[in-house]
Amino acid sequence: MSSAVPCQRHSFRTRLACLLGACLALSSGVLIAAGRSPPPLAQMAAPRAGDRILVIAPHPDDETLCCGGYLQQAVAAGATVGIVWMTAGDSFEIDAIVTERTLRPKGAGLEKLGVQRMVEAHAAADRLGVPRAQQYLLGFPDRDLRVLLRGPASTPLRSRYTGVSAVPYAEALHPGSAYTGAALRRNLQEVIERFAPTIVLAAAPQDRHPDHSASGALAVDLVRAASTRAKLYYWIVHGGHEWPAPRGLHRERALLPPRIARDLAWERLPLSDAQVAGKLAALGEHRTQLRVMRRFLEAFVRNDEIYAPAP
Ligand SMILES: [Zn+2]
Repeated sequence: MSSAVPCQRHSFRTRLACLLGACLALSSGVLIAAGRSPPPLAQMAAPRAGDRILVIAPHPDDETLCCGGYLQQAVAAGATVGIVWMTAGDSFEIDAIVTERTLRPKGAGLEKLGVQRMVEAHAAADRLGVPRAQQYLLGFPDRDLRVLLRGPASTPLRSRYTGVSAVPYAEALHPGSAYTGAALRRNLQEVIERFAPTIVLAAAPQDRHPDHSASGALAVDLVRAASTRAKLYYWIVHGGHEWPAPRGLHRERALLPPRIARDLAWERLPLSDAQVAGKLAALGEHRTQLRVMRRFLEAFVRNDEIYAPAP
C-alpha cells in the first residue's frame, strides 16, 4: 500500500502501470496466502476405533465448517461421535430477513429461524454420520454467550434478538433453562459427563466471533475439570477479514492457519476426495446460511482440515 503515494507524482500511464503492479503484487500475496501446495504442518493423528469425539459448535454450521472431514473419518474408523450446539443461531438478522421476507424480524421470527437452522444442522450431522442421539442442542442466546459467561452467573439475560430469557426450543437438552452463565455451564458440563469424550474439538480463544471464543474458553475449563481428561483440539472459523483466502469452493487447495493464531501448533488432517464431497454435501444442508454467505462457507471445503492441540 505504501507504493500508492509515490505513484501519484507520475504521468497517467506510469500511474496506471504502478497501479497494475500493485494489484499484481497484492494478488500474488493472496495466492501465497491461499497456499496452492500443502503447508508444512505436522500431520494430525487420524481418529481411531475407541475414540469418543465431541464437537462443541457455537452455531449450526460450525460443526461442518470446522470438522466435517474429521467426523467422517472418525465414523469410518469406528469411533463414537457427537455434536453439541451452544445456540440455535437465532440472531442472524440478515438471514432472518431473507427467510421471513420482512425488514426487521424479531422475536418469534428469529426463533423460527433457530428452529429452521437446527433442522439444517441435524440434516448436515446425519450426512456426516453423527447419530441423532448424540446431537445435542443447548439453545442459549446467539451472539450473547460471552456476555452471559462474563456477567452475573445467576441473573437471566434477555436475548436482544428473540426477546426471551430462557431456552425456547422444545428439542433442547433443557427447555426452559434460564439464560444465565451458570445454567449454560451446567448444560455443557452435563453433555460432557454424559458423552464422556476422549477428544474434544472446540473453537480457539483466538477465533474472532465472541460466541466462538467464549465457547472455547468454557470448553477448556470444563474439559480440564472433567474426570475424563479428554484431549482438546482447537479449530477456527472466524480467522480475520481475509481468511480463509480465497473465498469460494477450492477443494484442491489446503487450508493455511490464520495469522491471528499463527502461534498455535497447527496440525493438518488430509481428507480423501470422498470426505471432501461428504463435507460439501453436509454444507449443502445449511440452506439459510448458503443463501447469504455461500463463498465464505465454501472456502472451508478444502483437501484438509487444520486443528491445534490446546497448549
Ligand atoms: Zn459460529
